[in-house]
Amino acid sequence: MLNDWKMQLYWHLPIRIQEAALSLYAKHLEKIYYNHIYEEWKQWLSGWKNWTPEYIKEWKEQRLQHIIETAAKHVPYYHNQWKDRNWKSIHTEADLHLIPTLEKQSLRRNEHAFITNGAKPKSLWLEKTSGTTGTSLKIYWPMLMVPQWYAVTEVMVRNIAGVEQETPRAMIGGRPIIPGDTKKPPYWRFNRRWKQLYFSSYHISQKTVAEYVEALKKYESQWMTGYGSAIATLAESALDDGINPYPIEAVIVSGDTLLRGMRQSIEQFFKCKCFDSYGQCEGVSMAMECLYGQMHIIPVVGITEILREDGTPCESGETGEIVATSLLNDAMPLIRYRTGDYAAWAEDQCCPCGNPNPIITNLIGRTDDYLITADGRKVGRLSTAMKRSPTIHSAQIVQDKPDHAFLLVRPGENYRLSHAEAIRDDILERIGKFDIEIIEVPEIPKTPQGKTVLVVRLDERPVMKEMYKKLIKRIDI
Ligand SMILES: [Zn+2]
Repeated sequence: MLNDWKMQLYWHLPIRIQEAALSLYAKHLEKIYYNHIYEEWKQWLSGWKNWTPEYIKEWKEQRLQHIIETAAKHVPYYHNQWKDRNWKSIHTEADLHLIPTLEKQSLRRNEHAFITNGAKPKSLWLEKTSGTTGTSLKIYWPMLMVPQWYAVTEVMVRNIAGVEQETPRAMIGGRPIIPGDTKKPPYWRFNRRWKQLYFSSYHISQKTVAEYVEALKKYESQWMTGYGSAIATLAESALDDGINPYPIEAVIVSGDTLLRGMRQSIEQFFKCKCFDSYGQCEGVSMAMECLYGQMHIIPVVGITEILREDGTPCESGETGEIVATSLLNDAMPLIRYRTGDYAAWAEDQCCPCGNPNPIITNLIGRTDDYLITADGRKVGRLSTAMKRSPTIHSAQIVQDKPDHAFLLVRPGENYRLSHAEAIRDDILERIGKFDIEIIEVPEIPKTPQGKTVLVVRLDERPVMKEMYKKLIKRIDI
C-alpha cells in the first residue's frame, strides 16, 4: 500500500507515467502474491473436489492446534487472557467454546499485543480495514499467508465463477483512482501488466457512463469485480441511458450487502451471473457463491461459527454473528474474532453444484445495521425487514435523532407506498416507541468509501451530514 507522500507524488504525474508506475508496482507485488508458494497452493487447492470430509477435518485440526499453541505461548494478549483456561484441551472446532470470543475493541486497544513474539511488524504484510467510522484496524499477516490467500482467491473464488487472474478485468473499489475533481475522462487507470482496469467509483453517473462502457470495450475487460453497489450503479446508469448491454463472463462482488435490485441490474447489463462473495481484511473467513446461488464457506481459510448474542451457536436458519478463527495467520492470530457480519447456516445444506462445504445464507455485511433508541438499546437485524419487499429497489434507514429516523426508499417496479409502510411497521414492531418517516428518493446515498450501508446513524458519520441535508429537506441536523 502506498503511503501519503507517495500518493501525492503519484497524483502529480502524467497519466501515462501513472499507468507505467501501476504496472511496475504490479511487477513488485507479483513476487509477494504469485510466487512458488502460490503455485504450490494453487496446485493443492485445485484438487478440493476430491477432498474427503476426513481429510479436510484433519487438516483444519492440525492448523487449529498450531494456531492455539502459538497464541497461548507466544502472543501476549492470549498468554494473559488464557492463564486460567484449559487451552490444551482444544483439539477440534467443537472445543473452541472453551475460550472467549474476541471483540474488535480489544484488538483496537492494542493491536501489537496480538503479534506473535519475535515477529516484527515491518517484516509482516499490513492490511488495513476500512472501518465504518474512520477507525481502521491494522491487521498483520505473515508473508507466507499472502500467496496462500491469493491462491485461495484464484481457485475457490475466481475459478468458481469461470474466470482467472490472467483474464482481463475491470475493478471498482473504494480507493480513489483519479483526483476527485476530475471533470472529463479518463475516469480510470489501466494496469497493463495485469490487464486490470481500475474504475473510479466516485464518478459514475448518467453523464459519464457511456465513457465507462467504452473503456470496458477498449481494454476488453471480460469480468468485473468490486463493490456490488458501485457496479450496480454503473449497470443501472447504462441501462437508463439506453446503452446496449455489454456481455462479459462474470461479475464477482464483495464488500457490501448485495440487494436484489443491484443483482438484477448487473445481470441485465452484463448478461452474466453476478456472484456474491464474502471475506474481510482480517482474513478469518471467506465464502463464495456457486453457480446455483448458494454461498459456500471456504474451509482452508478459517473456522467459521455463527453465534447468538449470548455466545451460544445458532440453529440452522437462525441469523447470528459470524465469529471466525484464522487458520492461516500465525503472526497475528485472530481467534473467535467477532466480525460484526451476520448470516445463518442454510437449512438445506445440499447443493447440486457438488461442493460439500457448508452453506450460509442471509448474509448481511458489516453494516452495523442497528438503531440506537433514546434509552440506549441497540435494535439490530433491520436489514432482514428491509430485504423483504420485492417492489423496493433499495432502502436505507437514516437515524438523525434518538427517537427519530427516515426510511429512504428507492422505488422499484410496481412499487406502492403501502409496501414501504409494511417495512416501517415491521421495524417499529422491533423498536417500540420510535418515529420513522418514509421518503422516496431517486438513489440511496453511499458512504465516502463508495459503499451502500443499510443503516446510517448520523451522529457517527459527521461527514455524511451535508449530503443528507441536501437530500432530505426536513432534516434538522
Ligand atoms: Zn453450490
